Amino acid sequence: MTEQEYRATIGLEIHAQLLTKSKLFCFCSTRFGDPPNTHTCPVCLGFPGSLPALNHQALGYAIRAARALGCRVNGRSRFSRKNYFYPDLPKGYQISQYRLPLAVEGFIEIPVSGASKRVRIHRVHMEEDAGKLVHLAHEGTGTGTAVDLNRAGVPLIEIVSEPDINSPEEAQAYMSELRLVLLHLGVCACNMEEGNLRCDANVSIAPAGSKELGTRTEIKNLNSMRFLRQALEYEIERQEEILREGGKVVLDTLLFDPEKRETRSMRSKEEAHDYRYFPEPDLPPVEVDEVWLREIEENLPELPMKKRERFVRDFGIPAYDADVLTQEPELAAFFEETARLGGDPKAASNWLMTEALREVKESGVALRESKLTPALLAELLKLVAGGAVSGKIAKEIFPEVFRAGTSPRALVEKKGLGQISDEGALRGVVEEVLKEHASVAEEVRGGKEKSFGFLMGQVMKKTRGRANPKSVQKIMREAIGKG
Ligand code: ADP
Ligand code: MG
Ligand code: ZN
Repeated sequence: MTEQEYRATIGLEIHAQLLTKSKLFCFCSTRFGDPPNTHTCPVCLGFPGSLPALNHQALGYAIRAARALGCRVNGRSRFSRKNYFYPDLPKGYQISQYRLPLAVEGFIEIPVSGASKRVRIHRVHMEEDAGKLVHLAHEGTGTGTAVDLNRAGVPLIEIVSEPDINSPEEAQAYMSELRLVLLHLGVCACNMEEGNLRCDANVSIAPAGSKELGTRTEIKNLNSMRFLRQALEYEIERQEEILREGGKVVLDTLLFDPEKRETRSMRSKEEAHDYRYFPEPDLPPVEVDEVWLREIEENLPELPMKKRERFVRDFGIPAYDADVLTQEPELAAFFEETARLGGDPKAASNWLMTEALREVKESGVALRESKLTPALLAELLKLVAGGAVSGKIAKEIFPEVFRAGTSPRALVEKKGLGQISDEGALRGVVEEVLKEHASVAEEVRGGKEKSFGFLMGQVMKKTRGRANPKSVQKIMREAIGKG
């Protein structure tokens, strides 16, 4: 028997928390990290007689995301109750959109091995999040499970893809591009560690060439790109093994164990759920009027894919740079403004990717909160480009510019760090060095190029790095007589 080849099919359901200040159906705060159960009220606790009311801002964000993903927004959609019992769900049901979702039939272009691939979006709908179970194990309380309902009722959108993804790498590319889109739209903080972007991955395999899809399994709650990829790799292999041995994959819901790197069945939850969906009687249908829809569309920002292409095209920077710079909308805007103010684009890109990001890391201060501005960076870049200051010294003063917002020009003047290009002054230093290291100069004459570097270094040392290296080189060659 020859080895059977299989093709994987993957569809992702991504939950993104919308960046509103208050919850989806009440006025409780959505702030993360506060003491447990401090953001609750009768509505999100599900007290009898309390009534939900839709957060208009959340709806606006959901529409913004849906339109950026090219979805058709339904003029009228509806909320339903999804009934199930779980301790983190005080109402006994989750308010979600079911039959009539907010938006359908979109797509996203994702970068896949140098080309782009279109993944269709099946639907985008709104729903509320559940609370969080906290497993306790400390003095006083002993061990046990507690529930924190701060998250209950926080607004989410669920973005469901068509099964157009065919490998773990593509799944990761899809998730990371979708994340960037939401980040650039400003509708989600996209912080996977805080759980405001999570993913359920559906995967099946079928013999290569077969038109029909295999039976899928669904891996729940993947909260990092790496776990998504690892879980899919593991699960595809597991399914292949089953088929190779003549078995059948069974429809199942799985959990990924990142430590053991394996998927496990969640058999604890009932096999086939019957959520007994029915329209939410306490909420009217969601109406989206044309004028509002148009207004949201007109205010859509440039999406990351377009931005990357434009950066390469208009600024002539490498694709790699464009990729890094567009990871954060702020960073991209900073770069563009620096270039607009006359900073050389490639230099601006280098400085942002290395020096600025290093400072961000070392100081723990975000670029936005730092004192560095595009104007200051452009000023520094122009000083270097014009030869007024050496690259080395520019790097030395950069932390002060970043932390204190001091003008680079003023710093250079105050500290006397300006580059020395005056030939007369440099010739004096060169001659001094040659006198002190006459034997080394002799080696250079004998053809030992390494020694030339040593002499250059001595000049730099005497001038505290301020000598213009090009000029020194020229003068030194002449002086040694090998010009
Ligand atoms: P539900 O989870 O409510 O049953 P669907 O059946 O519509 O929803 O599918 C959920 C996700 O599973 C979608 O992203 C879809 O693309 C994907 N999917 C559906 N069938 C398959 C399959 N055979 N293999 C892989 N993914 C699939
Ligand atoms: Mg599902
Ligand atoms: Zn509340």
